[in-house]
Amino acid sequence: MVSNQTNSQYPRPLTAREREWIDWILPQERAGYREYCDVVRSMSVIGEGRRGKGEIILGQIGAQPDFEEPLAPVFAYGAIETNFGPISITLREIVNDQISVEIVSHHADEVPADFEEFRRWTYSTWKPGDVCPQCQKPLREVPMHAVGGGGEYVVLAICTNDQRVWVYENATQVNRLIPVTNFYNELMLHKNVREPKIAFDSKRLFTDLSNYSDSDLTYAFVTYNKLKAKVHVEGLIVADKKEKRRLVEKLKGVFSRR
Ligand SMILES: [Zn+2]
Repeated sequence: MVSNQTNSQYPRPLTAREREWIDWILPQERAGYREYCDVVRSMSVIGEGRRGKGEIILGQIGAQPDFEEPLAPVFAYGAIETNFGPISITLREIVNDQISVEIVSHHADEVPADFEEFRRWTYSTWKPGDVCPQCQKPLREVPMHAVGGGGEYVVLAICTNDQRVWVYENATQVNRLIPVTNFYNELMLHKNVREPKIAFDSKRLFTDLSNYSDSDLTYAFVTYNKLKAKVHVEGLIVADKKEKRRLVEKLKGVFSRR
């Protein structure tokens, strides 16, 4: 991997194309994306990411890309279908005032300079009631309401066709992708499934989805979110005493493993 420490092509502003694609997956009419977009606009491209060509790091001029932190979770994602195959844009959560942006062609080494665009889709414009932005098929939706909160709610969306899970946060109107393995793990703990053939095969979330009730999926989401704390809603779900105790034990287990 070539270091960009001495590379004079950084810092640089975003190219027009990079800016257009980033703006597209950060719709201004949604508070959460607008806020993030304001941060992007205060930044420059300070170097290439650790994943090499296609990943750029945004940050303040003078800063160097930080490779110490683990790769941040995805914040926004979009795909453009072209005559050269799909091009995807992935923006990750802001960590230490830096943002990883990946713009890659799925079928070529580089994103071609010119191409014919057939269609584009992003999770960022999805709202409850919509079909899947990727495959246009209906989704399993699990609405969750805040208890005693200010009318905040979140909706879990699951596409069995694309095997994707995300959550819509009403307060910010942001859709966050949820790692399937982590989510499924919480579901298996909750259902007390230990048989390895089932418990370790997270793809079964999609084939066995009808076996799980909204409250099972809610519980899995709440425990996942307690560990990852990505979605902040006051008084989201009130678990009964037994569940609270189990969660405390689970958390103890997580910390004692470290
Ligand atoms: Zn889909």
